[in-house]
Amino acid sequence: MTETFSFRVAGEIQFGVGSIRRLGEMVRKAGGSKVLLVVDPGFAKRGPVEEITGALEKEGIEWVRFDEVEPEPRIETADRCAEVARKAACNFVLGIGGGSAMDTAKAAAILATNGGKGRDYQGLNKVPRPGLPKGMVPTTAGTGSEVTFTAVFINEDEKKKAGINSPFLYPEISVLDPALTLGLPPAITASTGMDALTHAVESYTSKMASPISEMFSAEAIRRIGRSLRRAVENGADLSARSDMLLGSFLAGVGLANAGVTAAHSLAYPLGGMFRVPHGVANAMLLPPVMAFNAGWAPERFARIAEWLGEDTTGLSVTEAAQRSVEAVKRLARDIQIPQRLSDLGIPADTLSPMAEEALKVTRPLENNPRPLGQREAIQIYREIF
Ligand code: NAD
Repeated sequence: MTETFSFRVAGEIQFGVGSIRRLGEMVRKAGGSKVLLVVDPGFAKRGPVEEITGALEKEGIEWVRFDEVEPEPRIETADRCAEVARKAACNFVLGIGGGSAMDTAKAAAILATNGGKGRDYQGLNKVPRPGLPKGMVPTTAGTGSEVTFTAVFINEDEKKKAGINSPFLYPEISVLDPALTLGLPPAITASTGMDALTHAVESYTSKMASPISEMFSAEAIRRIGRSLRRAVENGADLSARSDMLLGSFLAGVGLANAGVTAAHSLAYPLGGMFRVPHGVANAMLLPPVMAFNAGWAPERFARIAEWLGEDTTGLSVTEAAQRSVEAVKRLARDIQIPQRLSDLGIPADTLSPMAEEALKVTRPLENNPRPLGQREAIQIYREIF
């Protein structure tokens, strides 16, 4: 942990059941009169899109809709989305959906004012000017994209995932309404929930964690730990959905300020090379990476065990730290997260090229409490092969 840090939380946050009714008023106050609505097609099928457009119309706000967002979007999707915003002369972008739709909206907002293509801005701090103001409405409880400065895309030709990372991506407003996540099917609830837990655990154990970021990460771990099973078992449980949405938001604040660690680096090639959903990839890598790191920050992992509801009385710190790994493994098994890379059709001879790619995702590795090289990366992949 470092005592020298900067800390930031994006824009205005409105949380709670029914918050969506405030969307129109918030967009208007943030300067939006013609909105590009980036809508997740999965949410559009089941969710109350008309309630959302109605909230805008009530405030006299015009809107145009873009809903061609695929899960784990390609960078070209952001380019097409920005083109719609430019053509319609929108002055605000709203992302409604999971991380895929929110990231597309965030990228479109900066592309609309900066010009060029999404690829020009992948990397850190490559965006020269602010984008259009933007608002996010998450409909999965996972990525925390509604409070981060990142938008992640797949570059299909290079078989790589890469983020646009810039302070201009922080959303101006975010509306978090747990009722919008009620229609999420159990498997997506499970994988996106584990993604949020990965953000929480990794930001808490990151070398960049600060006294402020760790409060967010810790509370995220508590909420997700007590509610993810319930949200998967009974999607209509609004209090579990509420805990999960707040948990993923808090984990997103942790992630934006403290970064993440090795599970993210190792998960990226699964998405880039095999299109494994981000939440599934993180969920599979979290337990072996925790086991790898536990001995290097035992007090932190021991605390995580307690927050996940483990009884650690009478245990040594090392034993308690080990309990955190077991708790996460049990949770992932209980909610039917895939356990083996081979079950996803990943061939054994790609583990070494995957490790090579993972080592290029350097920022999370720099934050990892324990150094990790090619040999260790292959070993971790083997453990879950
Ligand atoms: P997603 O956005 O791809 O959504 C997963 C599936 O759920 C999709 O099929 C979608 O249509 C459907 N869906 C979404 N909301 C629904 C609802 N309420 N009801 C029914 N179906 C619904 O998944 P995700 O995990 O939220 O986002 C993944 C993307 O986010 C990846 O590209 C990942 O790299 C990125 N990501 C970004 C950040 C960030 O800080 N920007 C952080 C982590 C991950």
